Amino acid sequence: MKLARRLDGVKPSPTLAISAKAAELKSKGVDVVGFGAGEPDFDTPAIIKDAAKKAIDAGFTKYTPTGGIPPLREAIAARTSKRHGLEFKPNEALVSCGGKHALYNLFQALLNPGDEVVIFTPYWVSYADMVRLGEGSPVLVETTMERGFEPTAEQIHRAVGPRTRAVVVNSPSNPTGAMFSRATLQAVVDAVKGKEILVVSDDIYDRLVYRGKAENVLDLDPSLRPQVALVNGVSKTYAMTGWRIGWTVGPAALIASMQKLQDNSTSNASSIAQRAALGALTLPVDEEIEKMRATFDARRRHMVQRLNAIPGLSCFDPPGAFYAFPSVSALLGRRPAGQAEALQTDERLAAHLLEAHRVAAVPGSAFGAPGYLRLSFATSMEQIDKGVDRLAEMVHGLD
Ligand code: PLP
Repeated sequence: MKLARRLDGVKPSPTLAISAKAAELKSKGVDVVGFGAGEPDFDTPAIIKDAAKKAIDAGFTKYTPTGGIPPLREAIAARTSKRHGLEFKPNEALVSCGGKHALYNLFQALLNPGDEVVIFTPYWVSYADMVRLGEGSPVLVETTMERGFEPTAEQIHRAVGPRTRAVVVNSPSNPTGAMFSRATLQAVVDAVKGKEILVVSDDIYDRLVYRGKAENVLDLDPSLRPQVALVNGVSKTYAMTGWRIGWTVGPAALIASMQKLQDNSTSNASSIAQRAALGALTLPVDEEIEKMRATFDARRRHMVQRLNAIPGLSCFDPPGAFYAFPSVSALLGRRPAGQAEALQTDERLAAHLLEAHRVAAVPGSAFGAPGYLRLSFATSMEQIDKGVDRLAEMVHGLD
């Protein structure tokens, strides 16, 4: 069948593929440790689920305004205003079917053919493909573990040119958990200020912080506001990945354009999930959220310490999100005992880890960073120990 060319260069999400492969093995009774998934293992807090049940019982089951129910847009605007000490209005907030949908719509609404978007590697898999789907070109800027996965000011300035329309900042980051320092954020501000360039600040992990404070460009320079779109959602903070609620807060013209796209594609996000998200933002859930964060923190410390104790592995200490991102480059080129072929790439290593040692992890190549593995610590301590034991066993088995 003749299909649209625009999808030719777009790859299926490798993170979802690893999770699917792990799920398939599990369904066959194989005892797989899953470090692949990018979602909290906790249940959605009961009080939030109750808000959804009440919505169903009250018959709140019809179409809503495309951009989201007014109280949710108000709650998002209020939260964002409080967070940044600026006043955002509900018409500057748009509710979409998850943060992913928000970002997709944003690039569709922003880009024209040939426009460039600066993305720092390692990057969340979908950014580059979303830009391509918007007929733009991703400009990848490499960062390294040695520099805490932060670009230099010079790299930022060099990447921004006459065709740049956006710079994506994801701090804390998926896959590294790294956060941009004030100096790096300032370099982003300096590079874009006064130009036709939008800073797309993907703040989806901004409540999952273990060291320091997540800041974004608006905290450094509130006057940049007309050039900033903040993307966030309930998935990670409130353990609500399946509810599919995310949002964008940004310039009213951008929001109106994104809404036009939603009018003609998805319409509103689920009415029931919107009520649940409203519950998340307005009901007393802080204590439960803090418990989840503290649990992630304990797992993070444990996992990173254990990974760094494995010879050949070197793991950055992530200040945010829920991923460890160890370098495995010292292991590449080595051969599993008794096998003919050496593990030349992180992808081969991840495949071997899953097939021979039953641990699902995502190769760094999936994030534009060959030579690393991404291991999610959004799983129990017991699973972390079991998975790291198996990883250590794999390393010890290399010639
Ligand atoms: N941004 C980043 C960096 C992510 O890791 C994710 C989820 O994996 C998202 C956005 C989108 O999350 P959701 O669509 O579940 O709101």
